[in-house]
Amino acid sequence: MTQSQTDTTAASQAGNDGQSDRTAVSFDHVSKRFGGRTVVDSVSFTVEQGSTAVIIGPSGSGKSTVLRMINQLETPTSGTVRVLGKDLADPATDIRALRSSIGMVFQHYSLFPQLNVVDNVAFPLRHAQGLDKAAARKAALEALEQVGIAKLANHYPDQISGGERQRAAIARALTTKPKIMLFDEVTSALDPEHVKSVLELIAGLKDQGITLVVVTHEMRFARQAADTVLYMDGGHLLETGSSDEIFNHPRSERLQAFLSAVE
Ligand code: ADP
Ligand code: MG
Repeated sequence: MTQSQTDTTAASQAGNDGQSDRTAVSFDHVSKRFGGRTVVDSVSFTVEQGSTAVIIGPSGSGKSTVLRMINQLETPTSGTVRVLGKDLADPATDIRALRSSIGMVFQHYSLFPQLNVVDNVAFPLRHAQGLDKAAARKAALEALEQVGIAKLANHYPDQISGGERQRAAIARALTTKPKIMLFDEVTSALDPEHVKSVLELIAGLKDQGITLVVVTHEMRFARQAADTVLYMDGGHLLETGSSDEIFNHPRSERLQAFLSAVE
């Protein structure tokens, strides 16, 4: 390969705005309006592959909307969202393929009540990826093993605890081997005794090289697990920094006030 060919390849991998090919998610001046209201206002940030970004901020500040724009549950009104180097608005981007590399878990576990745990976890493999029943079940059991609840495979959602249901939801998201996992307040509805172990499970996914974007009110988790903390306030990304910068050296009065209220 000639030098110029090498350069072209490197440039295309880096994307046309020069972002590195290690970037998992990038927002470039992304805004979202609902009706006349701007709920995400010109937000720009990048998340490197394999790193953990934690989004904090008051209720209604736009955290979930940011997360939902990463996997196209919402489309931006303006600005550019890139996932694994691909512009989500580019018609050439294979959104289906990209979506299968992103797993998402919400506050309210969306397990099907009429299916047992292993069938819930196998569901995307059976119905989105088209695996046969035996192969899907095998992969689902492996995922349940990974989150520590293989013994609950044949239980139904109403027979297990909230923490176990969240583990099952995480297992289900893991079956498609995502490169990026999105978590939206997944411990908010849990009893306190289940919060810690679910957060530990999430933090452990980082060791598998999965990029994590986590919206949470658990500040201790944010301090310990985050490579980058994003503080949102009124639709603005008001501060971004390392855990040390955000928690020990907050610059804005808004962040200082937020931290003293929640910590
Ligand atoms: P957070 O997750 O930080 O609590 P959200 O991203 O859920 O904030 O919401 C930000 C703002 O956008 C809120 O005021 C919310 O009411 C509004 N919003 C979110 N989704 C919609 C929607 N689909 N239609 C209209 N308004 C919405
Ligand atoms: Mg939210």
